[in-house]
Amino acid sequence: MKVIDHINQAKDTLVSFEVLPPLKGKTINSLYHHLDPLMEFKPPFINVTYHRSESIFKKKTDGTFEKVEIRKRPGTVGICAAIMNHYQVDAVPHLICGGFTKRETEDALIDLSFLGIDNVLVLRGDAQKNESTFEPEVNGNRYAIDLLKQVKNMNNGIYLEEDIRDGFRTNFCTAVAGYPEKHFEAPNLESDLKYLKAKVDEGAEYVVTQMFFDNAKYFEFVDKCRANGINVPIIPGLKPIYNKKQLTVIPSIFHVDIPSELLNEMNKAKSDQDCEKIGEEWLIYQSKELKKAGVPVLHYYTLGKPKIIYNAVKEVF
Ligand code: FAD
Repeated sequence: MKVIDHINQAKDTLVSFEVLPPLKGKTINSLYHHLDPLMEFKPPFINVTYHRSESIFKKKTDGTFEKVEIRKRPGTVGICAAIMNHYQVDAVPHLICGGFTKRETEDALIDLSFLGIDNVLVLRGDAQKNESTFEPEVNGNRYAIDLLKQVKNMNNGIYLEEDIRDGFRTNFCTAVAGYPEKHFEAPNLESDLKYLKAKVDEGAEYVVTQMFFDNAKYFEFVDKCRANGINVPIIPGLKPIYNKKQLTVIPSIFHVDIPSELLNEMNKAKSDQDCEKIGEEWLIYQSKELKKAGVPVLHYYTLGKPKIIYNAVKEVF
């Protein structure tokens, strides 16, 4: 079932989770172990992130280095199918431009469609670790909107091969990312909103936000989206902070601010348990306020401490 239909049919705020594929070498049971307790909250859908390969330099026996491509977390498509089968819920694979030619994307979409996956979160992806800016593959998609157009074309039976006329119409519900604190490359929020609107005008049916720790930023973002004619549901993405290291790591990776109140409380904490408690309380406070405001879904990034998410959701739902 499409996520947009879950949202439209819901009478109250829904809850959903996002998971990462297990590291290569681990079994899918590690993921089930992570998700099992959270299934008590009956999420209608679960997102699975996509991780492109990284280039690393491996030292050879003769002392020279060899560049090799490795994927630490493969398996997004298979995991989506496994989750749907194991838990009888919908799965939303993240699909990125980076590392894919359009033809490879087309084949991936065919696989997803054959597996009965109705939803995709369409993203650009980040630059590779050894590159300063994002570079698409030759004959790949440059921006999320280009990938979105490809998905929409397939929903209309249009494939890359020109001799396929009126091909099988896939039926994907498409979502895109939004950034309450602006995407880090965008010169300003207005510019970022212009491109978000373009994605929605191209057919994206809902938006999932980057994590934020200050609800006011989400509310302001939604107001600005509405003022700019972006009228689809905007799902807030939430993640707990549970140690002091994250206070600097999260802003540097995700380009989001930590509110002073949370920062001060965390800095006062004397133990790891204190930090976890503060993070959990903050997540509960954020979740309660957002739910009260009637957000369509509370979407939790579960990497790290699923127990904190469990405790917070238990308190809120
Ligand atoms: P885009 O919408 O393409 O925007 C990228 C930048 O270009 C923005 O600054 C935008 O303002 C600008 N822009 C957009 N369109 C145009 C245009 N036509 N012309 C000029 N400028 C333009 N990454 C992963 O690798 N795997 C994941 O699983 C993953 N999941 C994510 C889930 C969520 C909810 C979010 C918020 C992010 C996720 N990311 C993931 C990270 C994401 O790939 C990066 O943030 C990436 O840098 C931007 O992706 P986007 O889809 O927002 O890009």
